[in-house]
Amino acid sequence: MTGPSAGEVDPELRAAITRVAGVDRLLVALDFDGTLAPEVDDPEAARALPAAGPVLAGLRALPGTTVALVSGRSLASLARVAEVDASVPLIGSHGLELRFGQGESPVPVDAAEAARVAALRVRLEPLVAAVEGAWIEEKPAGFAVHVRRVEGERASRLLAALRAETADERDLTVRAGKNVLEFAVRDATKGDGLAALRRRFAPDAVLFAGDDVTDEDALAVLGPGDVGIKVGAAPTIAAHRVADPASLVNVLRLLMSTRESPGSSR
Ligand SMILES: [Mg+2]
Repeated sequence: MTGPSAGEVDPELRAAITRVAGVDRLLVALDFDGTLAPEVDDPEAARALPAAGPVLAGLRALPGTTVALVSGRSLASLARVAEVDASVPLIGSHGLELRFGQGESPVPVDAAEAARVAALRVRLEPLVAAVEGAWIEEKPAGFAVHVRRVEGERASRLLAALRAETADERDLTVRAGKNVLEFAVRDATKGDGLAALRRRFAPDAVLFAGDDVTDEDALAVLGPGDVGIKVGAAPTIAAHRVADPASLVNVLRLLMSTRESPGSSR
């Protein structure tokens, strides 16, 4: 393998980190699964790497520094697995649900939307139930079909069947992630989530990191002064890339030490 060895940060990313470390107000917005937490089969068992906690806490303790999590999980699920302080801003359901400190703003789904979700679920449930290992997760404005425990060919067939069954639904958001297909009657992306964080915290620069297809929406709304990092090998519009969650934690540690004592970047 070529490139920086474990623990090192490549020179271009290091330069970008040094740049954003010096702004007055910095927003560090991070995806959770696959970004801070290694991927696991059971979503409820996902936890951030042990090394991540102290680094995130250290960043949050610095002046003018906000650390937020931006996830496709429901807010409740994200809060459960992230195990972060209640004052950490959380964006759930790709921007549909926001928690800024104590103030929560879950999406009020109206009766018509709820009925539509229920009807859709009645149609899709038999297809999912017929495939061993596939399961449905309820979401605020829809649901997600998980196929992580389904063998590749059968998973592809199920996802294609679900898409075909919903092909003529109007104004239905169908979003593919890693081993998951989501159906939502109200649309939001991680770009919307990041925009909400910007409105709330008015940062001078944003660092965003994520591993999945849906993180591209957040990366797409970054400006020239921001830093976008892709975790893993998937295609991306991000300017920077790291191999895995452990490498991202190294980058965040570098950000912390640089922001703590500018000019002494190691
Ligand atoms: Mg992820």
